[in-house]
Amino acid sequence: MILKRIAIIGSTGSIGVQALDVVRRHPEKLEVVALAAGSNAELLARQAAEFNARYAAVFDKAAYPELAARCRCWTGAGLEAVNFLASLDEADLVLIAVSGAAGIYPTYEAAAAGKTVALANKESLVAAGDVIMPLARASGSMILPVDSEHSAIFQCLQGEKESVFRLWLTASGGPFRETDIAELEFVTPEQALRHPKWNMGKKITVDSATLMNKGLEVIEAHHLFAVSYDQIGVVIHPQSIVHSLVEFVDGSLLGHLGVPDMRLPIQYAFSYPERWESACERLNLLQLGELNFYPPDHKKFPALELAVSAGRRGGTMPAVMNAANEIAVESFLEGKLRFKDIPVMVERVMGQHRVVANPSLSEIMAADKWAREACRRILRK
Ligand code: NDP
Ligand code: MG
Repeated sequence: MILKRIAIIGSTGSIGVQALDVVRRHPEKLEVVALAAGSNAELLARQAAEFNARYAAVFDKAAYPELAARCRCWTGAGLEAVNFLASLDEADLVLIAVSGAAGIYPTYEAAAAGKTVALANKESLVAAGDVIMPLARASGSMILPVDSEHSAIFQCLQGEKESVFRLWLTASGGPFRETDIAELEFVTPEQALRHPKWNMGKKITVDSATLMNKGLEVIEAHHLFAVSYDQIGVVIHPQSIVHSLVEFVDGSLLGHLGVPDMRLPIQYAFSYPERWESACERLNLLQLGELNFYPPDHKKFPALELAVSAGRRGGTMPAVMNAANEIAVESFLEGKLRFKDIPVMVERVMGQHRVVANPSLSEIMAADKWAREACRRILRK
């Protein structure tokens, strides 16, 4: 057993904090060398002290004086400092736990540097999967999924990658699975943030309520597992016990079951190719009762098909869809946009976009910026 030296980009968020909990339980196997966050210097400094990190950085330069004052290790600020930690020589494994398109650059840097990347940030693959995956293959970087569905599929594919017929992503259905379509009109941010099964950051929680999250995950699966969109299905599974499945050519299905606890997929990405003990609750099959599976309601939740259509269109369209969704979610949380108008806004911006085929990273970032401005123009009207 060798000690893995890890860097966590986004250590102060929901995934980052749970990742540090995994490290806490395996001090003989994992060592934190670097931590980065957006602006929460106070928590970042406490984490750096507890885990004896050698490097700490904030993206937001305004938070730097506080970080520097509180830390005894190397400190830095801004995108360059974050990218430096994402590709740090001293790290074997980099966890990208940033939320949103802000994860694109650090993921790109970690992949370019040939790191093993534990990837929680799905938006980087959604927007730039066509650039990041070939880059990772060329540099020898291994991308290990942290998103629970993709970790489940990755685990089902161990030892058998050839005879896949279809991947099945499960979805809890979110807090409005049983809400009448007419009532979605009046949904508040508070209601949307109350997820029935998972406790997560705000952006992904709203994405789970619109089912946009599952659309992003279809695109993520397309890139991670190199399968066509026709080979990816989505099924609603309210209990969130079966985390996803692989259907093979003979009709057999392999599924991954467990309690809904993100520390499991985080730990698997850290331990791979090994499997370690965990302190997570164990699934009690004797008390489980029924597991249900239903088709998604596309009329009520149009965001799912909208995202998949952006993935199928390809080029810069997924980046535009993703960026428009980020602005729409932010506006909804600020009370400036109704819940039902999140997919409406995304569709409008997608309709205005002139797609660039085979884009470079800078063309993807330009499309992302264009989409954000297009959203703000629509919001002003
Ligand atoms: P949070 O919003 O809880 O955390 C985001 C983290 O990223 C924070 O540490 C934040 O710092 C940091 N951050 C923000 N901007 C930057 C930046 N520009 N550079 C460096 N760090 C930055 O998000 P989640 O943990 O919920 O989600 C993270 C990612 O994981 C998302 O892509 C999400 O889709 C995915 N995911 C999350 C799951 C979950 O259970 N939460 C499940 C499956 C996937 P600060 O605190 O200072 O703002
Ligand atoms: Mg997921």
